[in-house]
Amino acid sequence: MLLRRIAAALCATALAAVGLQATSAAPATAAPRVLYYDASQAQEFRSVVDQGAQIWNSRVTNVRLVAVSAGQTPNIRVYADNGWPRTYTTSLGNGRWYMGREAVNDGYFQARIAAHEFGHILGLPDRRTGLCADLMSGSSAPVSCTNAYPNTREATTVNSNFASAAAVAPQVYAWAG
Ligand SMILES: [Zn+2]
Repeated sequence: MLLRRIAAALCATALAAVGLQATSAAPATAAPRVLYYDASQAQEFRSVVDQGAQIWNSRVTNVRLVAVSAGQTPNIRVYADNGWPRTYTTSLGNGRWYMGREAVNDGYFQARIAAHEFGHILGLPDRRTGLCADLMSGSSAPVSCTNAYPNTREATTVNSNFASAAAVAPQVYAWAG
C-alpha cells in the first residue's frame, strides 16, 4: 500500500516535470531545424551546391541548410561524378546526392539540379509533370528550363514535413533513366 502510494507520487512528480518542460520548451515560434551539408567533395559544383541551399533557405522557414564546419558531422554529403544527378536518402533531412555531369553536359540548368536534389533530402519525391514551374519535375521539364525555385506547393510540403518531423523511408531518386 505504501509502495503503491510512493509510486503514484513519483508518477505525479514525473508528469509534472514533463508538463513543465513541455510548456517552457514551446516558444511562440519554433526554431527551424538545421541541416548541415558538406559540399567539399562536390568538385567544380561547390558554389552551385551552396546556391541550391540558398534557394531553399529563401523559400522555407521550418528547415535551414547550412554549410558544415570542420569537425562537424554533416546530415547531407554532396558528390560529383559523370553519372546522372541522383539522391540517396536515409531519412528526412539525411542522405547524400550527386551532381551528375551527364545532365550538366546535356545542358540542364545547374542550380535547378542542385535545388532539385536537395528537395529529395527535404522529403519531396520526383513528380515528372514536364512543367518548368515544378522544381521536382526534374528532367521531364525542357532542358531550357532555368527555374531553380520550388513552387508554393513544394515549399509548403517541405515546411509541413519539418513541422511534424514526418517519417520518410530510405529512397533512391535518379534525375533520369
Ligand atoms: Zn529527382
